[in-house]
Amino acid sequence: MKRLLLLGGTAQARALAARLAGNPDLTVTLSLAGRTAQPLDQGVPTRVGGFGGAAGLAEYLAATDTDFLIDATHPYAQQMSRHADQAAHDTGAACLHLSRPPWGPAAGENWIEVPDIDTAVAALPPGARAFTATGRGSLAAFARRTDIYTCLRVIDPPAGPFPGHGEFIVGRPPFTVEAELQALRRTRATHLVIKNAGGDAGRTKLTAAAQLGLPIIIVARTPLPEGGEVVETVDAAFNWLAARL
Ligand code: NAP
Repeated sequence: MKRLLLLGGTAQARALAARLAGNPDLTVTLSLAGRTAQPLDQGVPTRVGGFGGAAGLAEYLAATDTDFLIDATHPYAQQMSRHADQAAHDTGAACLHLSRPPWGPAAGENWIEVPDIDTAVAALPPGARAFTATGRGSLAAFARRTDIYTCLRVIDPPAGPFPGHGEFIVGRPPFTVEAELQALRRTRATHLVIKNAGGDAGRTKLTAAAQLGLPIIIVARTPLPEGGEVVETVDAAFNWLAARL
């Protein structure tokens, strides 16, 4: 029986876990960082919380005699991807990154590509009303701008009020184009600020912004660590594993 550690926190990780659940040749453990208070059922045994850096992850892989490590974290969770490469290298586990291809601009979408969150926030003109889904990690950057209004969408209800000029919007993806249109209209958004997460489900907000003529400020991806094997789809990750069982 082989063992797989699947680093999750994405819909792709859940989809892959669903494909692997019940496989008689494989013991699967899915790992979540613990950012979401009530994560969706992942369909396989799940552990929650950090490992303590690349060294901690390597220790975990060795202690559990893990053969395969699939990094299906979000494309912007780059620290974890680097740790995966390092820990796999140190323990001899076979490592794969599952990373959706980034979006490109579709007809009618007005993209402003920026290298990071700080530049994204700086690109908003005074008086702008930003609708953003860039995560709680970007909160401080938005909260500093008191001359704009920020609507930051989060999955968990916030512990306190928005620490600046703005509000939290609570919601769990995916959202339809219609739901995104309603959210953008209701918040009177003038700009959409997003990361280039890729995937069809999350693209609805870009479609809705384009329909309303809103500029889309999009934080570009930085490449995955060099040298790791990378696939773009759940099917390809499944086949990579199947070829090794
Ligand atoms: P990160 O910066 O790459 O990771 C920070 C630390 O969080 C890691 O060093 C690790 O702690 C822990 N960690 C991250 N992913 C983990 C996992 N799957 N299992 C156990 N520990 C994990 O990642 P992040 O951007 O904070 O994202 C955290 C999680 O949220 C990821 O799992 C990601 O898939 C998900 N997510 C992120 C985004 C985003 O925009 N960044 C969006 C949607 C979902 P230790 O060093 O202690 O091991």
